[in-house]
Amino acid sequence: MKDTTYWLQKAKDLRLEGRAFIDGAYAHADDGATFGSYSPIDGEPLAQVALCASADVDKAVAAARRSFEAGVWSGLAARDRKAVLLKWASLLETHSDELALLESLDSGKPIADTTGGDLPGTIYCLRWFAELIDKVHGEVPATEPGFFGTVTCQPLGVVAAVVPWNYPLLMAAWKFAPALAAGNSVVLKPSEKTPLSALRIAGLALEAGVPAGVFNVLGGDGATGRALSLHGDVDCIAFTGSGAVGRDIARNAATSNLKRVWLELGGKSANIVMADCADIGQAARSAAAAIFANMGQVCSAGSRLLVQRSIADRLIPLLLDATDAYQPGHPLDPDSVTGAIIDRAQFERVCQYIALGRQEAQLLKGGNPLSVVGEGAYLEPTIFLAEDASARIATEEIFGPVLVVMLFDTLEESIAIANSTEYGLAAAIWSSDLKTIHTATRQLKAGTVWVNCYDELVDMNFPFGGFKESGNGRDNSAHALGKYTELKSTITRCG
Ligand code: NAP
Ligand code: MG
Repeated sequence: MKDTTYWLQKAKDLRLEGRAFIDGAYAHADDGATFGSYSPIDGEPLAQVALCASADVDKAVAAARRSFEAGVWSGLAARDRKAVLLKWASLLETHSDELALLESLDSGKPIADTTGGDLPGTIYCLRWFAELIDKVHGEVPATEPGFFGTVTCQPLGVVAAVVPWNYPLLMAAWKFAPALAAGNSVVLKPSEKTPLSALRIAGLALEAGVPAGVFNVLGGDGATGRALSLHGDVDCIAFTGSGAVGRDIARNAATSNLKRVWLELGGKSANIVMADCADIGQAARSAAAAIFANMGQVCSAGSRLLVQRSIADRLIPLLLDATDAYQPGHPLDPDSVTGAIIDRAQFERVCQYIALGRQEAQLLKGGNPLSVVGEGAYLEPTIFLAEDASARIATEEIFGPVLVVMLFDTLEESIAIANSTEYGLAAAIWSSDLKTIHTATRQLKAGTVWVNCYDELVDMNFPFGGFKESGNGRDNSAHALGKYTELKSTITRCG
């Protein structure tokens, strides 16, 4: 049985790889520098990881460029790239317990999530783009007689992917799967907080047949990501993370070589429950899951719950009850639904917002740190009731287990509140009235709108990304391929 003892024992037996993966081989940083990777579970050190600086970034980009120009990957038939990516996906599956454990150890996520969500999601993403790529066709537009024209897609070249710590492998796969399927060479920079799973899968890529130089992974910190954003030989940088860093990347792209920039940034998503919602119990359970899953460290978390005033007395007690399911437990206990906050710095940041919330709003539940394992940082799921929709806790992304509930009277008011932040990643509307649903889905400024559910079908068939300052471009779906390809018009005189 895969119980806590099983995972703890397996953790002891794990061999952790901290070296960078450049040009088909694991390597130390050029200057030998390393940084410590710690487990949020108990605050204990896990591994020393290569701290890649400019020299390593140069090497990785040069290897990616060489492999791209040599055509060892970009020049393959799409069906041959597909075969290699499918083999890589199968290797990830064979190693999925090890990788899920690595992900839980490095990020503090519950093992039930990494085995049931992160790993299957990563494998599915890789397979989805592998399966797609040999079914992509160009266009033959109408021309005047005597001409023949085609519109075709070509890979960009060297794609840099810079990703965050909340879904380390999955967010990486959302970038590298379409980029590689399209024929690009990739340099991936995972967060310094969670580098281990990305480093591990690089070796599996080579084993699957991804040629040397095509998939490189650099351990490092913000400076490593920054060097990629400034690099003159990177054609595109695909980023998931905070707005502040997204802005820096956009500036650096502009001042270097105008590389293409794709940004998936934060959110402060509104979950609106109308009085005519058919199942208030379901709405309450879903609202709790929408914010407390993954300890609230989800860009599309339903961090603002807007409740029509006339049902507040019924919905709020149900919400408080539903929240009890999200008390953190030992992340390696398969029964734990939530785990640790990523690190002390993030924990302190969330605690500051909770302190602010005590001034700006009414605390309904939680608000306290918990001692679960060693020096790990754990927090009670926390709920505030705010009167002022422009309060800081109601408008700023907290990225932790903190829900802000607000009451409204009319649909128009709820939509105005929902659209009042700088973000536009996701939103939801609960109602049994078709007109209300249509009005809301049209007017909510968000890349994803859920109706009578939340967080459902975040899968490969639906584009994912934001309106407004939540970013540009979309991950997932066939639309994502457009981020990593150039369109070419070819016009031939035939007459
Ligand atoms: P972050 O601080 O912006 O970091 C994201 C990545 O960028 C990390 O790999 C980071 O490296 C790197 N980085 C830091 N400074 C950089 C710079 N100046 N230039 C280039 N790269 C740099 O974000 P985070 O704290 O990891 O993640 C939380 C944020 O991500 C939240 O705002 C959340 O909403 C957002 N997010 C968005 C989505 C989405 O799809 N829209 C999904 C998940 C998360 P180090 O970590 O090593 O410093
Ligand atoms: Mg870590």
